[in-house]
Formats: sequence, structure tokens, C-alpha cells
Amino acid sequence: MNTYQNYDTIVIGGGPGGSTVATLVAEQGYRVLLLERETEPTFKIGESLIPATYWTFKRLGMLEKLRTSHFPQKYSVQFYSRSGKGSSPFYFFQTNPHESAVTWQVLRSEFDQMLLDNAEEKGVAVRRGVGVREVLFDGDTATGVLTQNADGTRETLNATVIVDSTGQRSLIGRQLKLNTIEPNLKMASLFTHYEGGHRDEGIDEGATLILHTEEKDSWFWSIPLPYNRTSIGVVGELDYLLQNRRDASGKLDTQKIFNEELMKCAPLQHRLEDAKQLFPIQTTKDFSYRASRIAGNNWVLVGDAFGFLDPVYSTGLFLALKSGEMAADVIVEAFQKDNFSETQLGSFGPAFVNGMEAFRKLVYAFYTKKFSFARFLSEYPEHQGGIVDILSGDVFRKDVTHIFPAMAEMCPFPPEMPLG
Ligand SMILES: Cc1cc2nc3c(=O)[nH]c(=O)nc-3n(C[C@H](O)[C@H](O)[C@H](O)COP(=O)(O)OP(=O)(O)OC[C@H]3O[C@@H](n4cnc5c(N)ncnc54)[C@H](O)[C@@H]3O)c2cc1C
Repeated sequence: MNTYQNYDTIVIGGGPGGSTVATLVAEQGYRVLLLERETEPTFKIGESLIPATYWTFKRLGMLEKLRTSHFPQKYSVQFYSRSGKGSSPFYFFQTNPHESAVTWQVLRSEFDQMLLDNAEEKGVAVRRGVGVREVLFDGDTATGVLTQNADGTRETLNATVIVDSTGQRSLIGRQLKLNTIEPNLKMASLFTHYEGGHRDEGIDEGATLILHTEEKDSWFWSIPLPYNRTSIGVVGELDYLLQNRRDASGKLDTQKIFNEELMKCAPLQHRLEDAKQLFPIQTTKDFSYRASRIAGNNWVLVGDAFGFLDPVYSTGLFLALKSGEMAADVIVEAFQKDNFSETQLGSFGPAFVNGMEAFRKLVYAFYTKKFSFARFLSEYPEHQGGIVDILSGDVFRKDVTHIFPAMAEMCPFPPEMPLG
């Protein structure tokens, strides 16, 4: 077993959060090693971006690469009610007449690799096929990582700052038992890709569609992708979608459940009439959780490793990119001040959690059966802009909280989750 101390920062996980923090720290001249356990790009769910990602892409130098990519452009999101009626699309340019109002729908294997390539171009040492088994601590100070390499060997690698961006694997969160599942968002999801299928025209071609099923017990996403593919997934409470659907022998037929839900969603069924399902249904559950701390002495959490809300507003990638950016700034400052304490490295936490909280309230509104955005906006048309701002991800650049007192009259909000 080898021991190295050649890096200022080790970033665990080469998803969007990890690539972002690694790139921005390396750009400031620090030695950054990024470890990704997968040996090559793989399928991942989470394919729809929101406009506010623009600003992180700009810092990363990714805008031109995205503009010249084959990823469909996304101008809007459109909601379909349980009756099958579509809302008018929420066009992001309604509140933001800037090029950042147009974003992209991405194939994750390609998108994540683009970000990793960009990190390498900016000086990050990227090693694929290296999984981290454990973050090493001396008391409550992180000192390094123990790896498990694709060839079976193990190494101890040391660095001054350890960033956990392992996504839902949430390495440090599990190691230090920091994570709490959102009690009222015990959800599951079934998803796949289709080839073909109907798309709207013009600027609506790349829209994300969010469609409720008949009884509002579940909802589907429809996300247009390159290669004439569409990502289709259904989300519902864990008990409803999986637990209560086992057959007499306790087996789950996820394809059957997916088809049954699709039967309850006429507008989507029509769109998929001539489309072909490309691979078996994939399942994920219990994805909504949050850690009680965002940093400690010499360690930081980024992206899903800190927490994930819900797929409904496509905020996961944005929050991974944004926390990557904010974490990079506090890490660079930590090196400048030679202070790697929890107070320094966690100093972006309160602002980050505040922004997340705005999305969280809107997620709870969406899952409140008696709440309807259409009714809310007919009573409070002045809040249309505030909702588009949140759907665009403008929760760090604008104060969007003014919509919540009115909304709270129609749906109960959960207690806020401050950092511990
Ligand atoms: C059903 C569902 C639908 C979603 N839809 C959307 C959507 O439409 N839009 C959106 O923005 N978000 C969506 N998300 C969320 C989105 O997928 C995540 O928020 C996003 O991928 C988080 O990025 P990340 O970099 O934090 O983690 P990830 O993208 O998960 O990256 C983590 C990386 O770490 C690596 N890794 C893990 N463990 C180790 C280890 N021990 N050692 C080394 N490497 C390791 C993994 O291989 C992976 O590459 C969805 C999520 C779910 C569950």
C-alpha cells in the first residue's frame, strides 16, 4: 500500500459537483486530484438543466462547449394537470431577457465527461477507476482517503482539503451519520429512455414536461434528449409506487407498474404512441435527504453528497454546480488564510441552505394534493414572476421569498432545516 502527499485538495467523485469544485480550485494554482470510481462514462439520471446554471458554466468556461453541443435547448417547463390539461409553458425569458434564459437537456454520460475534460484542461489530475472506500480522520480533522483501485490495489492519499462529491453515495455523510431523509418526501422513481415520440415545435421542442397522473398519486417527467431520445420517468410516494405493488410472492414488476402509471397519463401516452422503449425500467428510491453539516475541519460536502430535494423542478444539477462553485471559493480562501476550520470551510453553508429552502417550499407545494399552481396564480397573478424566478434557479441572485406568505395560506410548509 502506497502513501502520497502531493495534492492540496482531493475531490472524491467526478460528477458535475466534483468537476466544478476541482476546476475552480485548480484554476487558482492549487494541486487538485479528482478520483472517480467508474472507469468510463456511464448512464446517469438527472438530465434537465435550469437557466441559473449559466453563471457557473460561465466561470468554468463551458458555455461555448454547450452552445456547440447537440444537446436540445430548453426554453421552458410546462405542467399538465391530472385532467390532462396543459398549462401555458413557463418561459424563462418571461422574467429574464438574457441569453441565460435558455438552457440545455443533457445526456449525462456525455455531459459529465465534458465537465471532466474541462477540469483536466484547467489542471486537475483526474484518475478514473479509483473508488474511495473511506475518508481518513485524525480526531475530527480529515487527513486523506483510502482508495480501492480498479486493479484491486489500495492506496492512502493525503491532502489538506478533502471534498466529498460522491453524489447519493454520500461517503462522509454515511461515515459520520449526518444524513436525515426528508420525512414527508419518501419517494421512489421508475425511469427509462424512449426513441421517437411526439415533440412540440419551435422553441417548445426542448421543453421539460411535468405531467400529473389521473389521481395525482404520481407524476411523469418528459425530457427531450439528443439522438431522438426522450427521458421518461415517474415519481410517487414509495408506498404507493413500490411497497404496495408487490405480488403475492413479494416480487416487484417495475415494468408493469410503469405501464400502469402511464395508462393514467393520457397526454404522455399519446406522445409515446409510436416510440420505442430503449432499456428496462430503472428504479431509485429514498433520494430526498440532507446532511446536518456541510463541512468540518479540512472537509467539505458538495452536490448530492450534502443533500438532494426532489427531481420535480430539475434543481439537482444546478445545486451540485452551485455548491461546487461556492465550495471552491471558500477552499481557495482557506488556502490564502491558512485556515481549514469548519467555520471557514462551512462559511458558504447558510447562504446555500437558504437558496435550497426556496426550492424545498415549492417542492412541498407541488406534493400538496389540494394545492394547485393554477389556482394560486389566479388568486395572486403578481407572483407569476416569483415562480418563474424559482423555476429558473434565481434563488441566490434575487429575493424570491415574497411569494411564500401567500402560498402558505394554501399549503403547509415544513419546518426549515438549518445546519446543525
Ligand atoms: C429520479 C431522479 C431524477 C432526476 N432528474 C434531474 C433532472 O432532471 N435535473 C437535475 O438537475 N437533476 C436531476 N436529478 C438529480 C441529479 O441527478 C443530481 O442532483 C446530480 O447528479 C448531482 O450531481 P453530483 O455531482 O452531486 O453527484 P453525481 O452526479 O451522482 O456524481 C457523483 C460521482 O461520484 C462517483 N462516486 C461515488 N462514490 C464514489 C467513491 N466512493 N469513490 C469515487 N467516486 C465515487 C460516482 O461514480 C459519480 O460519478 C434527479 C435525481 C433523481 C433521483
